[in-house]
Amino acid sequence: MSTESKDSLQKITNFGGNQCWLARRLRPSSEDELLSILERHDGATIRAAGSGHSWSGIVAHADIVLDMSAFNSVALINTNGQHLVRAGAGCRLQDLLDRLHAATDRTLPTLGAIKKQTISGAISTATHGSGRQSLSHFVVRVRAAVFTGSGGPEIREFDGGPELLAMRCGLGCTGIIVSVDLQTVPKYLVAETARRYDSIDQVIATFESNPLSTFTFSPYSWAFTAFERRAIARQPQSLPSRAKALAFRLYQLILIDTLFHLGVVGSRALGPAAVKFLQKHATKTLLTDVERVDNAEHVLTTQHDLFRHEEMELFVREADLSFVLRFLRAAVEFFSGDASTFPDELAARLRQANLATMLEGKHGSFVLHYPLFVRRILPEETLISMAAAADGPLYSVSIFTYDPPRQREPYYAFCLFVARALRTLVGARLHWGKHFPLSHSEIAVLYPELERFRAICRTHDPHGVLRNTYTARVLDLAPGKREDDRSAAA
Ligand SMILES: Cc1cc2nc3c(=O)[nH]c(=O)nc-3n(C[C@H](O)[C@H](O)[C@H](O)COP(=O)(O)OP(=O)(O)OC[C@H]3O[C@@H](n4cnc5c(N)ncnc54)[C@H](O)[C@@H]3O)c2cc1C
Repeated sequence: MSTESKDSLQKITNFGGNQCWLARRLRPSSEDELLSILERHDGATIRAAGSGHSWSGIVAHADIVLDMSAFNSVALINTNGQHLVRAGAGCRLQDLLDRLHAATDRTLPTLGAIKKQTISGAISTATHGSGRQSLSHFVVRVRAAVFTGSGGPEIREFDGGPELLAMRCGLGCTGIIVSVDLQTVPKYLVAETARRYDSIDQVIATFESNPLSTFTFSPYSWAFTAFERRAIARQPQSLPSRAKALAFRLYQLILIDTLFHLGVVGSRALGPAAVKFLQKHATKTLLTDVERVDNAEHVLTTQHDLFRHEEMELFVREADLSFVLRFLRAAVEFFSGDASTFPDELAARLRQANLATMLEGKHGSFVLHYPLFVRRILPEETLISMAAAADGPLYSVSIFTYDPPRQREPYYAFCLFVARALRTLVGARLHWGKHFPLSHSEIAVLYPELERFRAICRTHDPHGVLRNTYTARVLDLAPGKREDDRSAAA
């Protein structure tokens, strides 16, 4: 998150460049200082900020932004045979991994695509990778500042029951996190092989023996590329295999993270024909059917943040994935102007759900310029993370734009249509930290524990201090204390 001073207010901008506002930025250096800031809030709204890697307005438009970077300790704790790591709220994932790896032979149970987020920011929106649950699921204790019944702040620890489940993915509304205790696992290697497939059934079948896999569905060629991944126990690697692992790291950095993304940005500037050409042919240049084995951290994460972009991510059941990808293909072809209608099967369902009118004026309005990216997330023990209380693995589908922030309206219109349609047709949930065009009235039915979560937010923050326009829109938790909050909390 970058800041720029103007008097005591600072201009705050997130990674995607799509959230920008003026706020007071305060950096407490101790728990006492944190409590004293919360005590003096005087009606102002306060949001804790991590590293600014959320695209949704989840931190935006708060009067005070808390920078928790002074809370960056890392300590190892062994309790009841459990090997835990206690990380300060503002500790970045890369720093946490480096210190954990230097001191032990253990690592984090899962990782998302990058390691720049803070641990508290990452768990607060259920940051996930593929094949396991999100980081939130592995949180066993949270130490946080919350407001007490009388309204004054105090430090409390949560290590069980619904309160822990709420804190595991608290969207910044359940208190200001000071530290997080997380499970660790023995360090492991990951074997990865890229392979091309023609059908979704073939791709889903690969998860059986390669549970950490991800895959892409490339627009315009509509080919699947699976990055088949499985964990293997750590073992000494020979010199040639270490050299191969290093060569693959360079290949990933140069060809995929840099050249492909330069191509994406360049093709956008050249126009729809260049975009479609790149998307049709780029995956053919990938090195396929060659196995790479390296430390989990290097295979699971990328330099995906080298180029500024924005993402919306939808979570759907395995039984719906095939339909969802057919639907997305039809939507991409319609919005890009390649097809003038949706296939009959889908058009009928859109009409039945009163969604067809959303397509008026949208034909040819947006050319998707990046592959759809799919991951698999296991059911989680939380109240409202995307995979909370799921009845089986969910698949997440990410939709990216590399358009500059002021040119994203066509992308947002595409996302709104897709989010609303897939919410209605298959109950798709959205990643809380990514582009989030829906409101509380549309999403409440998707989260059986949302009311319990909202009640805990009201108990920990009875004056509605830890809220903003985002929490008002998506959680129906508006800043300040309202009549309905008071009666619900009573
Ligand atoms: C390039 C890129 C790649 C990404 N890859 C993935 C991925 O692979 N998987 C995935 O799931 N997500 C991914 N994300 C999304 C990202 O992981 C989440 O949005 C995450 O929440 C960002 O963490 P942050 O530290 O930047 O926190 P912020 O975005 O600053 O804040 C996120 C939330 O955490 C809360 N918060 C932060 N600190 C505290 C605290 N001390 N106490 C209470 N609340 C707090 C904030 O109030 C807010 O509600 C990616 C984002 C980017 C930009």
